[in-house]
This record gives sequence, C-alpha cells and structure tokens, in this order.
Amino acid sequence: MQQLSDSIETLNFVGPSYAKKLEKLGITSINHLLHHIPFRFIDFRKTANISSLQIDEIVTIKGEVTEAKNQYTRNGKKLQLFTLADKTGKIEVVWFNQPFILNSIKVGYNISVAGQVVWFGRKKVIISPEYEINTQGVHTGRLLPIYHETAGISSKWLRRRIAEVLESQIDLSEFLPEEILQREKLIGFRQAIMNVHFPQSEQAFELGKKRLAFNELLLMHLATMHRKKDWENLQASYTLKLSKKILKEFFSLLSFKLTTSQDTAIGQIIDDLAKPTPMNRLLEGDVGSGKTVVAAAAAFVSFANGYQTIIMAPTQILAQQHYNTIKDLFEPLDLTVTLITSQSKGNSLTKSDIFIGTHALIHQKLNFDNVSLVVIDEQHRFGVEQRNHLVKKVGGKTKVPHVLTMTATPIPRTVAMSFYGDLDLSVLKELPKERQKITTWLVPPEKRDGAYAWIGEQINKEQIQAYVVCPLIEESDAETLQSVRGAKAEYEKLQNLYKDLRVGLLHGKQTIKQKNAVLDKFKAHEIDILVTTPVVEVGIDVANAAIMMIEAADRFGLAQLHQLRGRVGRGSKKSYCLVMTESDTQKTLDRLAALKKTMSGFELAELDLAMRGPGEIFGTRQSGFPELKIATWQDTDLIIRSRNVAGDLLKLGSHDTITKKETHKS
Ligand code: ADP
Ligand code: MG
Repeated sequence: MQQLSDSIETLNFVGPSYAKKLEKLGITSINHLLHHIPFRFIDFRKTANISSLQIDEIVTIKGEVTEAKNQYTRNGKKLQLFTLADKTGKIEVVWFNQPFILNSIKVGYNISVAGQVVWFGRKKVIISPEYEINTQGVHTGRLLPIYHETAGISSKWLRRRIAEVLESQIDLSEFLPEEILQREKLIGFRQAIMNVHFPQSEQAFELGKKRLAFNELLLMHLATMHRKKDWENLQASYTLKLSKKILKEFFSLLSFKLTTSQDTAIGQIIDDLAKPTPMNRLLEGDVGSGKTVVAAAAAFVSFANGYQTIIMAPTQILAQQHYNTIKDLFEPLDLTVTLITSQSKGNSLTKSDIFIGTHALIHQKLNFDNVSLVVIDEQHRFGVEQRNHLVKKVGGKTKVPHVLTMTATPIPRTVAMSFYGDLDLSVLKELPKERQKITTWLVPPEKRDGAYAWIGEQINKEQIQAYVVCPLIEESDAETLQSVRGAKAEYEKLQNLYKDLRVGLLHGKQTIKQKNAVLDKFKAHEIDILVTTPVVEVGIDVANAAIMMIEAADRFGLAQLHQLRGRVGRGSKKSYCLVMTESDTQKTLDRLAALKKTMSGFELAELDLAMRGPGEIFGTRQSGFPELKIATWQDTDLIIRSRNVAGDLLKLGSHDTITKKETHKS
C-alpha cells in the first residue's frame, strides 16, 4: 500500500523534473501533496441542459463533440471551435490559440465542460472552460479547488495528481482515539483529506481544514512537549551556588537601580542556576528594557563560582556592543572577556571567563573547559539548530550548560504557549527610566519633500542626528545585494539633498572594520544622517540620534517597525519616527497608524497577528514567529484545544506512535 511518507516521485507522471518544481511549493512527499490545500474554489456544481443555458450562468454541461476545428479571426489569431450537443440542443465552446486542444478533444468524444456562458458575437458560447473527457468530476461538476501554483505546476495538474492518489490504495488510517474526535467535534483524517480537495460544500471544506489544522497544531505541541521532556532528562554541567556576598558585589558594579522586572528575572535565573536540571529560560523584553544587565548578572554568578560563560549574538555589531558593555561593567574585577567573530579569532589556548561573539563561537576551536552558562541573544535569528549546536559543543550528551535565551521580539500569547512552550519565561515589562514617547508620523508621498526639509532644519537647530532606514527588499534575514544597492542609491540621493550635512552609510556587506568605523563616527557625531539597511534594527545605541525615517514601512511588520523605532528616544532630546509609505490601502494605513497610538511592543505584536491577512508582504520569518501551513496563530481556541489533547495523549502514552507516524510522514 502507498504510504504518506513515500516520495512524490513514486507517483505516476512525477519524475525528477516535476519533483523539482513541486519542491518550490514545499511538496516532496505524498503527505505534502495531500496537505497542499486549496485557497479558493470556483462553484461549478450546477449542471444544466444546453437548451436552458442563460447568459452569465456559471455551469457544468455534458455532451458529445459533433464538430472540432481551427478558425482564424480577422486579426490573424487562431481559435479552436467545438460544437457540443446534448439531447436538448447545441452550444459552441471556444479556446484561443491553444491548437493542441484539438489533439485532446475529438469528434465523437463525450466531454464535460465547466465555465461561464457569454455572448461571442451573436452566439451564446462558453470560452476557455475547464473540461474533462468521460466525466470524472475532477475538473467539472463540482466545487473546483484552486491551489497555489508555480511555473509548470497548474491547479489542474495538482487536481489530477491528488485525485489519482485518493483513488489509489493509500494509508489514511486514523491516529486519534475516537473519544477525542467526538469530544473535539473533529472529523476523521481520511474524511478531512477528502473534504479539503473534494468538498461537497463550503462547510465540508471548513471541517476538513479544521481537522488538518488541528493535526498541525497537535504535532507542534507534541514536539514542544518532547523537547521539554528531553531537556528535563539532562543534567546541568554545573550547579551554581550563590551567597549574599556574591550578589552584593554584583550590585555594587551597577550605576543604576534595577527595575522591578529585572529584579524578578534575575531572581528566577539565580534559582534556575542552582538546580541540577539545566536552565532553559527565555528572557523577553522590549528594546531598551535592559536585558543585557540581566544576562550579566547570570554571567557574574557563573564567574563567581569559577566557571565560564558564553554569550552569542546574531551580528558582529551586536557582539561588539555586548563586548564593550560587559567589559566596562566588569572592569573593576579580575575577569577576562574575549570577543570572537569571524574576523577576531581566538585560539584553543585563549583562556577567558566570558566569551562573547557571533556564530563563529560554534565553528572555532576554543577553550571551553568549564562553561556553566550559555546566553543567546535574539534566538529566532539563529533557529533552534544553531543553538543546540552550541549547547552540545560545550556540554555533552547528558550534561549541558544552563541556557538563557533573550529576545526583543514580543511573542504573541499563542506562539509563546505552543512553540516556545518548552522554555520558562521571564518578561521585562517596563523600561528603565521614564523614557520619552517617540512622536510617530505617517508620511504620505506628497509630504516627502516637506519631511526632508524638516529633518534638515531639526538637525541644524537641535544638533541631533538621524537614521534613514532603507526598505526591506526580500523576506529574508540575510541581506541581499539588492538591499545594499538600495541603500547606496539612497545614500547618494541624500548626499545631494543635504549638501551641508554629513551623510554616512551602513550595510551588512561592509566588513566589520568598515561598520565599526561608520558607527564610531556616528557615535562621535561626525555623521549627521546615517543611511542604513535594516541591520540597524538590533543593537545600535546612540543617545543623540533623535529622528528615524523608515522607508517603505508597509514592508515591515509592526513589531519590527517598533524595534527600529526603539533606536531613537534614548537620550534627552525629543524624538521622532517618520513612517514613510506609498500605500493607499486603508488596511495598510490602519495597520501603520497603530504605531502612533501605542509604544508597547507586546500590543503591536498582537495587533500584527490580528491584522495580518494572507498574502501580505511581511512574512512570519520577519516577525520571528514560526510558520504554520494550515492553522493560523490567530486561532487561539484551536491552539488551546490541541494543546490539551497533546497533554492527554502524553499521559495516555499514545503520543509516541502518533509522533512516529506523523514525523515519518513529513
Ligand atoms: P535591551 O533589552 O534592548 O538589550 P539594554 O540591555 O541594551 O536593552 O539596555 C538599554 C540601556 O538601558 C543600556 O544603556 C543600559 O545600560 C540601560 N539600563 C538597563 N537597565 C537599567 C536600569 N535599571 N536603569 C537605568 N538604565 C538601565
Ligand atoms: Mg540587547
């Protein structure tokens, strides 16, 4: 029997070339094909006799082909003309410039066509309809599914393949206990697959989709719960004890008083560090909420117990900045801090209490003798795999260091409770000092020139500095050449525009030396306007920068715009964010307007989620949320229900078979 896990190439008509195309749609197995669900339908359910056809009617008709020919139009184009007859009458069916159709449909064939009846000259005809020979109900006479397509793979082609799979012997056996299906009002798995591709009604499709969404969420919960269990079976490399004296010494290093949530977070972390099970904690806090000092407190506990700490940051700029901050903070102590990036190499002999660096930390041979703590900043930029790499490199199979992950990405509640459900959570809820509100404006194209003039005036009058952030070109963390080109063009434009000001350029393709040179100049106020790609998002801290202009803001998610905005408003000067957009779509403008109303990253993240429609340009990756294929993060009810079921299955012990069966499929 055919299995869901079988490669797509085991199907008839699918060779290496089709397999390659299908991969673009994320389809490599039969399971993927069956989970490639339609995004809309055309209703061809109505059937009619030919004599009763009305203009504009959308119908399916059946008949015998009595004539088939090519015909030339007045402007020299070829059209294919068929006559179709049933007991009640005749109608013409027309295609334009598709002569191959004459090879498929021949006189004497019984065919079924589905389309709209229109006038063609003075005749009622059906133009370019869906059709099938010897009626099978795959392309006509039904709710016709339309799928996401790619070059060489049409909805028609997908429909055919899916129909073939479902006609064949395929194992679609149920894996959920009957009482759970009953309780959760879910339909069976086989039925669900049938319903999404061959629904009798819209409701039938929705029921099928709901079941498949439930499956997707259930698997995610099970995976999360497994990760949690696996982690709890590990041992911490070292348990770290803490005396009052140690803590006092740390506080004496600080030039400010901790906020309440910093205090709480540090307390939670200290408790974790003292346990025999390794810490696995996520520290979540808005830009500027002061996560670094919390991490430093943990590193200090590690140091005071005689062990090493590793801090990994996503970019060289950020690694460098952490390095400076931590080095300054611990200056009075006899403690070594070493920076590791692809350009500042350490060697396996370098002894250090704290290593700070980029992913170069994973690849270089370093002296990680007795690491008790790993801190990872902005986890979503690394992904779970790189994190595990580092943790496994430093620890072993059964013993691993304590892990603290930090993120400024506000994680919506539904994502936190499911995808990040294996992590303990600490949240920094408030910003340290009474930070001033950043005045935010939406700037339409007609006010662009005025905005440029205003920025120039402000810079001269207030002696402040500005960022101009170039648009995100592609949905990818990696900075593309195209983005760099965009930034360079903007840089040249602004140099011409602001003849009396000093304009600088920062982008990800510069060497760390170049980047640092630019940043140093900006910090030293030798640059007035810094043109940058969105790399600026993480980790630049220049208090005198008080204006931020964000180009093509509609390409960013709200949470990301908020993070960008967090680069200003760091000093005493009144700060502004100019959100540039050429969009005139009300929905987009409403979304961006939310930035004016709230300064809370958490609120904006939830809004992002609530307002996001399918097909919008900013993807899940940018917002740092993991991607779902069928379910959505908005579906709180289904997320909670599937989580409860996952918990039940775990208790019943039947989760293993499901997970095996399911992971096997994908
Ligand atoms: P983020 O959470 O964005 O990483 P940082 O750790 O970089 O924030 O902190 C932002 C700034 O706030 C830094 O200059 C830091 O020294 C300062 N800071 C952190 N905690 C406090 C506090 N409790 N009181 C005053 N300033 C603080
Ligand atoms: Mg930070």
